[in-house]
Amino acid sequence: MIKKVLTVLGARPQFIKAANVSRKLSEYGINETIVHTGQHFDNNMSKIFFEEMDIPKPKYNLDIHSLSHGAMTGRMIEEIEKILKVELPDIVLVYGDTNSTLAGALAAQKLDIPVAHVEAGLRSFNLKMPEEVNRILTDRISSYLFCPTDNALKNLKNEGFENFPCSVIKSGDVMQDAALYYDKKANEKSKIIESLNLNHPKYLLCTIHRQENTDNKNRLSNIINALNELSKEYKIVLPIHPRTQNSFKKLLIQLDFEPINPVGYFDMIQLIKNCEFVITDSGGLQKEAFFFKKYCITTRDETEWVELVENGFNVIVGADKEKILSEAKLVAKKISNFNIDLYGNGKASENIVKSLLL
Ligand code: UDP
Repeated sequence: MIKKVLTVLGARPQFIKAANVSRKLSEYGINETIVHTGQHFDNNMSKIFFEEMDIPKPKYNLDIHSLSHGAMTGRMIEEIEKILKVELPDIVLVYGDTNSTLAGALAAQKLDIPVAHVEAGLRSFNLKMPEEVNRILTDRISSYLFCPTDNALKNLKNEGFENFPCSVIKSGDVMQDAALYYDKKANEKSKIIESLNLNHPKYLLCTIHRQENTDNKNRLSNIINALNELSKEYKIVLPIHPRTQNSFKKLLIQLDFEPINPVGYFDMIQLIKNCEFVITDSGGLQKEAFFFKKYCITTRDETEWVELVENGFNVIVGADKEKILSEAKLVAKKISNFNIDLYGNGKASENIVKSLLL
């Protein structure tokens, strides 16, 4: 019987994924200890999410960030191991695909503590992505694999997970739980539409932060050139990730519009709900666009969320300026029925906690 969970978090998307699961753990009387690795540390990349979403305060803050992948992951493993030896949890819970995910899973499994991976089974089939490496390795050493989609289940089946000593469970997507739960609060609390004066102009919501785009001048310039072109027709709202900010400076990329600082989750929900459509390389935002019935143009060469593409809600354009512009024209006129259940309709957190209690 699981009584004590230790959760390892560190990056913005993980705070959003964990919020509803943490609440459910507490509702079901399970004790949760949170370790924040510090991978994301700015107030607007971390603190604001804990405050707005009422995520329990981490007991441990490791403050590990701004290092190369190897150094960051290594130091995290070392520190998490020390904590696990003191806390002795029944299970370690990790989310998604960051260095914090892999570090938590490795530290736990080597101490023979079972790992539960939320967002298991996702694959881009592109091993050049650091996230893909983190996902594959975390999945392989997890005891509970909570898959958000049928495609995630299929991926694990294809990799032979049926033969491994683990439970593969389709839980649905915890990000949909968050979108549904916080929608009303966002309506009440966020003032971003008024403060950015977005009531009248049509605007596009854009984000860029994947390493394959931020660290490649050609790709980043192509995407920005497309956004510069689109800024003649639409207002561009680009909450800028710290990594992208650095690349703009380093690679001397010129924007014809003013990006904004990263925003909290409530503001983000309002920005999604009121935009014309989304252009992004984010994993989470591709789905959130769908949750709020908006089309998404994805500036990557592949996606883990293939069901969005198969159903016509998302289109993959790479970092190709002309493709971005031609899809923007098509998407602006497109009308689809978004009422289809691809992600479990808000029951994922409950499914996860109930499975842990079985
Ligand atoms: N997000 C946010 N504020 C921002 C940009 C993104 O709250 O300024 C949210 C977004 O809505 C989504 C999550 O952060 O829930 C996605 O994180 P990110 O794009 O950094 O990571 P990915 O999903 O690609 O792993």
